[in-house]
Amino acid sequence: MTDKRDEWKSNIDTTRPSIARAYDVVLNGKDNFDVDRAFVAEIVKVVPEIYDVATYNRQVLGRGVRFLSGQGITQFIDLGSGLPTVENTHQVAQRANPEARVVYVDNDPMVLAHGRALLAENDHTAVVTSDLRDTAAILADPDVKRLIDFDRPVGVMLVGVLHHLHDDDDPRGIVEAYMAAVPSGSHLFITHFCASTQESRDAEQKYLALLGTGRFRTPEEITAFFDGFELLEPGVVPLPLWRPDGPVPEKPEKLTVGQRLMYGGIARKH
Ligand code: SAM
Repeated sequence: MTDKRDEWKSNIDTTRPSIARAYDVVLNGKDNFDVDRAFVAEIVKVVPEIYDVATYNRQVLGRGVRFLSGQGITQFIDLGSGLPTVENTHQVAQRANPEARVVYVDNDPMVLAHGRALLAENDHTAVVTSDLRDTAAILADPDVKRLIDFDRPVGVMLVGVLHHLHDDDDPRGIVEAYMAAVPSGSHLFITHFCASTQESRDAEQKYLALLGTGRFRTPEEITAFFDGFELLEPGVVPLPLWRPDGPVPEKPEKLTVGQRLMYGGIARKH
């Protein structure tokens, strides 16, 4: 008889790389398979710094959540949250305010299993296994409704995930649906693969061919996701330049290929 706690394992496809597990590889995690490591080995051929890129993204996630907490945000919907790693959204947010609430949303079955294990004892946090493109289902989800008060400002996070939506998925419409559901004072936090260099365009080809997703958008296309909201300083920039904790090169052109591979920003809804 299958142990109920092990049911998620039957949903895992180890014959193809998964986005969540490939990201776990570049964060030096243990929740990945040969097929994920083989995919990352292909990306390393075009962007040897890809492990550093994941670190820049995790670091800016921490800085962004800290910033949002400083703006008074105490509830977060973290869409495409990934496998638990160090300094997850709830850990950063609850350090600022122990009452902070976080709903993690991801469509990878392994995220549910590992997320539940990590978060079981925290009743201000939930993991929802859903496709973030199904905005109506997520906004109506019982855990989302239990933890998020839609009369108070919400931090809507799409960190490292919108590039896994094709243009046909209408990513802009998806952003609008979430932002329409949250009140004035809410914030939108996006990081995104950027078509900034030849290497990034080569990486895009590999992502699309081997993973099936990975649309590297231009800085202008990424900035357009924030249309209608007040883009906060310093705007949409390479991740190491977004409110850095320490010194960084002053000029974006001095950044390495890896430092320019992802851009991000935060905006406020009025
Ligand atoms: N947000 C985390 C971070 O930035 O550290 C994780 C980013 S990881 C690169 C992208 C995550 O988005 C993966 O865990 C993947 O399973 C999830 N994802 C991709 N497409 C999704 C979708 N349509 N619905 C929900 N989750 C999705």
